[in-house]
Amino acid sequence: MDFAALPLPDRLLIAHRGTAYFARRLAELTDDELDGETLLPGWTRRHLAAHVGYNAAALCRLLDWAASGVETPMYDSPEQRSQEIEEGATLPPAAIRNLVTHTAARLSERWRNIPPSAWDALVRTAQGRTVPASETAWMRTREVWIHAVDLGNGGRFGDFPDVVLDGLLTDVVNLWRARDRGAGLFLCVDGRPPVEVRESEPITTRVSGSAAAVTRWATGRGAVGVDVEGSVTPPPWL
Ligand code: ZN
Repeated sequence: MDFAALPLPDRLLIAHRGTAYFARRLAELTDDELDGETLLPGWTRRHLAAHVGYNAAALCRLLDWAASGVETPMYDSPEQRSQEIEEGATLPPAAIRNLVTHTAARLSERWRNIPPSAWDALVRTAQGRTVPASETAWMRTREVWIHAVDLGNGGRFGDFPDVVLDGLLTDVVNLWRARDRGAGLFLCVDGRPPVEVRESEPITTRVSGSAAAVTRWATGRGAVGVDVEGSVTPPPWL
């Protein structure tokens, strides 16, 4: 199933469900637990929550750009993005929680009110890709579902919609290929055709399991319920 082939309202619904999923995991954490580690090296839950909030604000800037034609990038620079997260992480817990809620509401409002013709307007992501404004649905979907797992308090890839798992695995494989990584890697997802990451290279690592387990492994979130023959660490994809 292809996320991009879904009608736009369905894509936005999946993004909203992901935001709600992230918000539930965050609400289950006490203020003290926000100091705890995440699955992302060097980031506490404070960093992660601040990042998810600022990500929504950055996507609002892309939608404003699409609607107005006035270029407003997601972030001024990678340094500005990192500094914003570092500072956000020092906010009081209630302010961090408000940041997440408030920016998600703003993004939702932008999606509701964008002029229909602006969905196809081209904008540039933080990675430098030129995409239509409608791509913000997938960009947000990726962020909120994966980062809910990164909070490390019970979020599971098994809770993701199948179309999100498929889209994530496709993204990871495409990025590996674009960066000449993943030689010898063979992915066998239950019920799907197997994927040879770099065709014509001899197979050295075979990874098999459910879509949730293989996607979790491929995104670098650990080998949980997956069968890995060969190298245990996946190549980085970002
Ligand atoms: Zn992120």
